[in-house]
Amino acid sequence: MDDLFARAAAVAAAYRAELPERRVQAAAGDDAVRAAFGGPLPSTPTPAADVVEALVAAAEPGLVASAGPRYFGFVTGGALPAASAADILATGWDQNAFNAVLSPAAAAAEEAAAGWLTTLLGLPEGSTVGFVTGGQAANTVGIATGRHDVLARAGWDVERDGLHGAPRVRVVAGIERHGTIDRSLRLLGLGTSALEEVAADANGAIDVADLRRVLTEGPPGPVIVCLQSGNVNTGACDDLRSAIPIAREHDAWVHVDGAFGLWAASSPAHSHLVDGRELADSWACDGHKWLNVPYDSGFAICAHPTTHVAAVSYTAPYLVGSGGTRPGMGDLTLDSSRRARGFATWAALRELGSDGVAEVVQRCCTLARRFADGLAAGGVEIGNDVVLNQVLARFRDDAGTDAVIEAAQREGTCWFGGTTWRERRWARISISNAATTEADVDRSVEAVLRLART
Ligand SMILES: *Cc1c(COP(=O)(O)O)cnc(C)c1O
Repeated sequence: MDDLFARAAAVAAAYRAELPERRVQAAAGDDAVRAAFGGPLPSTPTPAADVVEALVAAAEPGLVASAGPRYFGFVTGGALPAASAADILATGWDQNAFNAVLSPAAAAAEEAAAGWLTTLLGLPEGSTVGFVTGGQAANTVGIATGRHDVLARAGWDVERDGLHGAPRVRVVAGIERHGTIDRSLRLLGLGTSALEEVAADANGAIDVADLRRVLTEGPPGPVIVCLQSGNVNTGACDDLRSAIPIAREHDAWVHVDGAFGLWAASSPAHSHLVDGRELADSWACDGHKWLNVPYDSGFAICAHPTTHVAAVSYTAPYLVGSGGTRPGMGDLTLDSSRRARGFATWAALRELGSDGVAEVVQRCCTLARRFADGLAAGGVEIGNDVVLNQVLARFRDDAGTDAVIEAAQREGTCWFGGTTWRERRWARISISNAATTEADVDRSVEAVLRLART
């Protein structure tokens, strides 16, 4: 094991060291990578060391430097050193993070990290935190908990009786909600036709007057309101301080999808964007985006522990350590057996400290502004109010924009994708990596402007 683990760690460390200068796009095409991994399953065993070498050789040309400082696609965080090492240990220790009976260490790490997270994000003390795979899972847990609560208050036991014959649950959400909200509604049997859409303002935040209109015009009865902190295109954050009291007038469960935007809470210069967040019932947040925890890491946070547990836990006679007065971690997630992903979050928070988290958020926002200003100075149209870490840039027209995106990806200095925003094509740049520097941004701006001219 010594040599094997040392080799794996050395390969990973060498790769990380190379990231600042590595071409961002994968070196090999899909077919070549598929061929390297493919072929029939051998019938005989292979020594572990040979397997690792084969994996390294096959994977290396197909790796995208998405953990590096000039990857601006989607909303992609890097991976902090201590958090990455903690994840390596989580694999080495191979703990089952179902509850404290299975792993006191995993339970204690998640409990400590949960407290740190709720404090840092400015959420109610004592909120429960499920350590889930990401924003999708966190939205599903939050909406499942809301489904339980609004139906229980209507006299319906959804866990026992399902949705057949249940009172209809309205789901009110902005037109700019993330696509994972819709998938959660599908998975939870509410269906996307339960959605009542609310208009958004120019930058993509919910129109609060329209929220009031939609809530008032619909029938009374169980209702879940989904708000958003951090639009994936523009970074816009819903005005929670105004919106949540309106939802309360209708006895709604309020879920906030703050996959990356909720981290604005940690930065004194940006926390006003998520003012009023503590008034909600549940929140989705990601570790693997702005906190720079390795994949996969998300947080399903709920202000009502008993409701959270009632909605997603299960029991069996052979299971000990769950249920009762103190929920186990498996009572807060959709998984049963689960790796101890909380170690990495604990390590990331410990490594940065609250000042460090704030500094990362602050710097990414400043760099997003710098990116936008640099492009604008080169005559590029910027499509959003850069309130957070997201930038939309347009090169002449739709075709010109797609051409620059494609050329930039191929050239390899940096990587960003495209999007359609308000019926036009835009390059979409997200600054979410703690390792990104001013020099990375300037180098990327220079490359993009050069490619846009040719
Ligand atoms: C990324 C994102 C999600 C989904 O999160 P995953 O971690 O990819 O599951 C949901 N909502 C918003 C606003 C996001 O940015």
